Amino acid sequence: MAEVAEQKRDIRQLSLDEIKNFFISIGDKPFRAKQVYEWLWKKSAKDFDQMTNISLKTRELLKAHFAINHVQVDDIQRSSDGTIKNAVKLHDSLIVESVLIPTESRITACISSQVGCSLDCNFCATARLKRMRNLNADEIYDQVVAIKEEADLYFERPLTNIVYMGMGEPLLNYKNVLKSIEKITSPEGLGMSPKRITLSTVGIPKMIKQMADEDVKFNLAVSLHSAIDETRSRMMPINEKSDLNELADSLNYWHQKTNKKVTFEYVVWKDINDDERHAKALAKYCGRVASKVNIIEYNPIDDGEYQQADPEALDMYKDILEAKGIIVNVRRSRGKDIDAACGQLANKSS
Ligand code: SAH
Repeated sequence: MAEVAEQKRDIRQLSLDEIKNFFISIGDKPFRAKQVYEWLWKKSAKDFDQMTNISLKTRELLKAHFAINHVQVDDIQRSSDGTIKNAVKLHDSLIVESVLIPTESRITACISSQVGCSLDCNFCATARLKRMRNLNADEIYDQVVAIKEEADLYFERPLTNIVYMGMGEPLLNYKNVLKSIEKITSPEGLGMSPKRITLSTVGIPKMIKQMADEDVKFNLAVSLHSAIDETRSRMMPINEKSDLNELADSLNYWHQKTNKKVTFEYVVWKDINDDERHAKALAKYCGRVASKVNIIEYNPIDDGEYQQADPEALDMYKDILEAKGIIVNVRRSRGKDIDAACGQLANKSS
């Protein structure tokens, strides 16, 4: 039985039209498709038997043809600051992590787009895992649903924001990431506003331009970490393929098409980019691209090669950027005690 079940198609890979066609092909009424689709997405049904407004006979037919490959939250860790980290088991038993970050005004879900990552940013724990595979749109969507349920259960508050800042590079799983956002924002899905969604990328110019052309409505963040090519290439090998000039061109195109500013994520490390030369280069770069800056705290990963810069260096950055009229926020990390902070997601608990 189990073998047969594994071969069944995952019904959530089908569009509404494809489900309609299935009903037509078995001589049933096409309007059932909308009901099934709502169960699958809006109500996150994990089993066909939950679909109580569908007749038993139709449910049996659906079961005979399809499976619902829902993810499972395999383990939950709670930080002393309220952050929750989920280890999420996929249908093929691979694990990704997602994080619920509560603040006074928001509950944010930080979700993964790939199992592992191929990009080798040398300060990031996820980079130590090789890339295993892309997540499907439903696997990304399910992480959001799990966090939405936890927000309700543990905080009695709604989920307000979603950031694609977990494991993996969203722009290297472009199709599924966009599909997941479409589901999260559509009324048949979670009906969330795209303005509350941020996609974070290492910055792949070709993909940023493509995304701009598709008139998307969510926000874009780019992990910059240095506005000097030599330093950035040392930290992030992707910069050797497409340098800061090319990145700036693509971000200007993004701004022109979407009218949105990009947010630069920026870690300041001791003895790497904690000097005035780097701060001034960042201010200059921000002058070329409509942007704001989030200075993020470095979360040490095991080998201790990199260290967080002194607070004076962060103040120096803030002063130099603000003097040029650039919006800058200094962000403190959350969930460090459970390895749930940026760049710490590496399936250590599994
Ligand atoms: N691949 C995407 C999304 C995942 S990383 C991207 O690069 O943007 C999410 C953010 O965490 C990125 O800004 C990344 O540079 C940052 N990050 C990675 N490792 C970190 C660490 N150890 N401490 C702090 N931030 C880190």
